[in-house]
Amino acid sequence: PSDFTAETRNVVFVGAGYVGGPTAAVIAYFNPHITVTVVDKSEDRIAGWQSKHLPIHEPGLYDVVRVARDGWDGVHPWDSAEAQLKDSTPTRLPNLFFSTDCDTHIAAADIVFLAVNTPTKNAGVGAGAATDLSMFESAARSVAMVAKPGIIIVEKSTVPCRTADVIRDVFRSYRPGMPVEVLSNPEFLAEGTAIKDLMQPSRILIGAAQTPAAHVASERLASLYASWVPRSSILTVGLWSSELSKLVANAMLAQRISSMNTVSAICEKTGADVDDVAFAIGQDPRLGSRFLKAGLGFGGSCFKKDILSLSYLAESLDLPEVAAYWRSVVGINEWQCRRYVKLVIKKLNGSLRGKKIALLGYAFKKDTADTRESQAAEVVKHLWGEEPREIAIFDPQCRKEDIDAELRGFAQKSNLSERTAVNVYADAYSATSDAAAVLILTEWDQFSYPPKSEEAARASKPVPDMGGLRYEISESTTTIPGFGGQWGGEVA
Ligand code: NAD
Repeated sequence: PSDFTAETRNVVFVGAGYVGGPTAAVIAYFNPHITVTVVDKSEDRIAGWQSKHLPIHEPGLYDVVRVARDGWDGVHPWDSAEAQLKDSTPTRLPNLFFSTDCDTHIAAADIVFLAVNTPTKNAGVGAGAATDLSMFESAARSVAMVAKPGIIIVEKSTVPCRTADVIRDVFRSYRPGMPVEVLSNPEFLAEGTAIKDLMQPSRILIGAAQTPAAHVASERLASLYASWVPRSSILTVGLWSSELSKLVANAMLAQRISSMNTVSAICEKTGADVDDVAFAIGQDPRLGSRFLKAGLGFGGSCFKKDILSLSYLAESLDLPEVAAYWRSVVGINEWQCRRYVKLVIKKLNGSLRGKKIALLGYAFKKDTADTRESQAAEVVKHLWGEEPREIAIFDPQCRKEDIDAELRGFAQKSNLSERTAVNVYADAYSATSDAAAVLILTEWDQFSYPPKSEEAARASKPVPDMGGLRYEISESTTTIPGFGGQWGGEVA
């Protein structure tokens, strides 16, 4: 570690969510001599982080939190996370804390990461949509009120280009003349692989102004990461480039999915197989093989909002063609979901009335319990309008209360038929028994898919694996995976 580490004693994260919690935990884990405190105004979230039952599901997260939060005295059995500490740190004191007392901790901080929500302001409109920075600005105001001079503010949330100026303005109003440095440090972790992504990041991006003070601040931030990330993977660029890079990264990833989904539609009409096409083109190193999987489309709290933000930015810069280009990525995503539901209806002879439709998977991707902007939720909404007898949902990680609350809200808003019962089940067996169709909507490992060829698909139904208990879905049930080239048949 460089000399800059010595100056950093207290790091605070504002926002104990999917980004703030895991990122703070990994920074604390690799910097045992720095105190890392995560503050959040939500008492439930903080209580969760202080308990055994963390508020978010991420493989490996608990191991890291346990070591940094509870300390390690050498008596736990070795596991993967602890094994890494074995050589360098035989014992350690707790250095990761969670609190709702934002002011006290921010007042003591040397570096504050802002990791609060930055949702879409006016979702649902046809045009791009501005980012709602109200929570971000409010967090910045809280910091400005109590922070000590020389504070380094780090934008961890995904924000529109030139947001650092917004933070500077907040400080100018609330603490005129106080020295503060604003850095951009977007987070590239993906839910479901957050710990792996944080421990072995493809790169750490730091955006800083071109001033000597900003250079010192960015070195101090870099040295936090340098405890485990090779210096060659820590990239420093200008502030605006860094802010924009995060929006562009998400937009490009989503764009690959939408592109392949347009190809899937061509495949269905020509007899080509979209999985074969993806494999074939993915061998070209200029393209690479990842993010080429056709399927239901992208979900999650980030892709759509970040594309809409990019599109809005383009509009505000008087670049309507650019805005339209990025909006079409979202348009294709919505179209693909509607296409899938049409296919379901077609496979069930044109009507869902009186039928039970089972959904395996509700999270927006595997290995997370996050349901925000899940494509499965979109499928439910479309199915509901067709008045099936029952929509039966099973997901191995999503909490029943979360799904129920989301669907209740949707039913009230859209005035949907009471003829359809929507039930969340605790096991795949009850959800699928007696169903006319089983739709596999999240690629959880335990929902294996039928093999590729038509004959093989008929011969072997998917076999959900429920904690070692495997069973076959009934022969009379149609299985319709939401992924790959297995949709089969042409969609009208
Ligand atoms: P989240 O909703 O899980 O967490 C945000 C937390 O901030 C909430 O717990 C909320 O209570 C808290 N909060 C809001 N305002 C606050 C305030 N003024 N003071 C204290 N706490 C406050 O959100 P998230 O998924 O962690 O996303 C956070 C940011 O990171 C967003 O900008 C998002 O775009 C970005 N991001 C998310 C991901 C992801 O995979 N989820 C990945 C990269 C970047």
